[in-house]
Amino acid sequence: MKGEHHLAISVVAAAAIYATTRSVPMIATFLAAGVLLDLDHWMDYWAEYGPRFDIRHFLNAIATKAFRRAFVLLHAWEGVILSAFLTWWTGWTPWLAGLTLGWGIHLLLDQGFNSPSPWAYSLLWRLWGRFDYKRAFPKPYEPEDPGT
Ligand SMILES: [Zn+2]
Repeated sequence: MKGEHHLAISVVAAAAIYATTRSVPMIATFLAAGVLLDLDHWMDYWAEYGPRFDIRHFLNAIATKAFRRAFVLLHAWEGVILSAFLTWWTGWTPWLAGLTLGWGIHLLLDQGFNSPSPWAYSLLWRLWGRFDYKRAFPKPYEPEDPGT
C-alpha cells in the first residue's frame, strides 16, 4: 500500500481513536506507526543499491519490486505481538496501545493490498527463506495501464 493511503487511513482512524479516548499519546504513536513504518524499506534499498538517498529511485524501486531481499524488519507480526504483550503488561499504557494499533493496522493494510504470500509479514518466515523477496512477494511487477 502506498504511503499516501497509509496516511489517509491512519488520520481517519486516529480521529476516531481520539474521539473515543481523548488520548494524544495514543494517537501520536498510532499515527507514527501507521505512517512511518515504511521507513524500514530504506534499509532494503540501501542493502540493494548501496548508501544513497535518491527518493525518486527509491520510490521507483518500491513500485517495481526491484529487490532481491525483503528485510523490512518492522513489517513483522512478531513486533505487533510483542507490542501488544507490552501494552497489556504495562497496564494498557496509551502510547503503547497506539503503537500496537497503528502497527497492526499498517500490516493488515499491507497484507490486504500488497499481494504478499500469506506469511510475508512474519520476520521469522522471511528469515527462514533468507529474506528472499520473490518468496515473500511472488506477484511480479505489472505496470499500470496508462489508459486510453
Ligand atoms: Zn508497509
